Amino acid sequence: MSIPKNARHKFMASIKCIGILTSGGDAPGMNAAIRAVTRTAIYNGFHVKGIMRGYRGLISNEIIEYHSESVSNIIQKGGTILKTARCPEFKTPEGRKTAYDNMKAAGIDALVVIGGDGTITGARIFAEEYDVPIVGLPGTIDNDLSGTDSTIGFDTALNTIMEAVDKLRDTATSHERLFFVEVMGHTAGYLALNGAIATGAEAAIIPEASTGDDQLKTLIDNGFRKSKNSAIVLVAENPETGGAMGLAERVKKEYPQYDARVTILGHLQRGGSPSAVDRILASRLGAAAITALKEGQRNVMTGIRNGEIVYVPFSLAISHTKQMNRDNIELVKVLSI
Ligand code: ADP
Repeated sequence: MSIPKNARHKFMASIKCIGILTSGGDAPGMNAAIRAVTRTAIYNGFHVKGIMRGYRGLISNEIIEYHSESVSNIIQKGGTILKTARCPEFKTPEGRKTAYDNMKAAGIDALVVIGGDGTITGARIFAEEYDVPIVGLPGTIDNDLSGTDSTIGFDTALNTIMEAVDKLRDTATSHERLFFVEVMGHTAGYLALNGAIATGAEAAIIPEASTGDDQLKTLIDNGFRKSKNSAIVLVAENPETGGAMGLAERVKKEYPQYDARVTILGHLQRGGSPSAVDRILASRLGAAAITALKEGQRNVMTGIRNGEIVYVPFSLAISHTKQMNRDNIELVKVLSI
């Protein structure tokens, strides 16, 4: 995004204090991001204020002064020290007006928001209504934001899934069962597909692959029945198909010869100490957010493409245009024969 030089100076001169918040679903690595944003901002001469509980803290005025020590000893911790929340009030113009008034009263000139699709959507709307420079960081285990190869928390969640599925594998092979393991993803199949590759699962049932064909039927007809007497299938959560429970119900009715079991990994996928990959990603993206503000950029999300930092317009980040790597879908099939 190119901004005229004069305008850049204007932005830079006007930003003295940066507010930071984490919002929506928590993701491991958010703390590493908070630390990077805070320290890079202070290093560059900005004041920093921490906003508690996402957009809710802006509305309820839970804003605290942040110093370098405020973010000591947190890089290794899961969750977010700023807490997070879903805040329906921020979806209303009145809620956003209160948020803006509180922000200005606290002396905050710019925001860094860390979260997923909803958080970036909220930031975009807020920035359209009020003259606030905002930079977003992709903080979600789902990896469903466009314009970035990965999101903060995705790698850690993937590792958690891998450990859990490795354990299930022992019992699955002992009992000749069909195991449906439901993973998170907010209707995106990145965790399921990559989890399937990492664990050697027999299949991944993901929304991106259902272009009209019945993935369960294909699995049973082509893979499972032929050569295997037990299988682990990673299933992306999906209200349309009912996820793992929905598939198990179908097996009971349509393929009663199979003993189908369901494991829903649920919230344990969000927890734990962030992986090295997520800590490094969060540190780089957090520092890049301050660079973006210094350069006069606004309404962009920091992202990573082929190892390089990129600035992704909010509109693109939330466009749901990210393409699933079709080779990986094929890879699961090939490697599960
Ligand atoms: P995530 O950021 O993990 O996708 P949510 O979808 O719950 O999580 O969004 C987090 C918060 O972002 C919401 O609780 C709300 O405060 C704000 N938000 C989401 N969508 C909008 C919207 N359309 N308008 C304003 N704020 C929104």
